[in-house]
Amino acid sequence: MAGPSGAGKTSVIKKALESVSLHLSVSATTRPQRAGEVDGVDYSFITDEKFEHLVEEEAFLEWEDVYGKRYGTLRAPVEDALERGEDVLLEIDVKGALDVKRKVPEARLIFVRPPCEDHLRERLAARDTDDAAEISKRLEVAPWELEVGDREFTEKIVNDDLDEAVARLIRILKGENA
Ligand code: 5GP
Repeated sequence: MAGPSGAGKTSVIKKALESVSLHLSVSATTRPQRAGEVDGVDYSFITDEKFEHLVEEEAFLEWEDVYGKRYGTLRAPVEDALERGEDVLLEIDVKGALDVKRKVPEARLIFVRPPCEDHLRERLAARDTDDAAEISKRLEVAPWELEVGDREFTEKIVNDDLDEAVARLIRILKGENA
């Protein structure tokens, strides 16, 4: 699942997982931990050196530079969950999602978008986690993400109303006619 920064992916996923049971992948990242984030739960926060080491070990299913930091999906926990028969949800960027689709053709691509681009700026400013430079970096990439998401992703969720977006994600995850 992907979408531009500020589209509300994390909120939609967190709420949907109250009703659907699946394995939510915890990514590794080199970006600094934000207030309120828990290491090992929201992300595994690691150094550049450690990330590089994991890249060399081919420990990542996919990894990307996103907004100037590195983020990656560790292969082992995903494979373990699949072996246990669980579905796996990745919350990753657009490039990473397309890479996963190339490697795992049966993966489904779900795109979360805001009702309009102005909402991204408002949401990013309102959540107060990123400074102005970080917000600009994220907004700069948004038009490309929205274009590719519309074109390449099979399932789309417009996050206008949170409850409706959650209900739609639940239907998609349960394989119901969304
Ligand atoms: P944030 O810094 O706001 O938590 O995340 C920034 C972006 O990185 C989001 O689009 C998020 O989905 C993406 N991201 C998080 N984890 C991964 C990952 O493991 N791989 C990739 N490719 N992107 C990720």
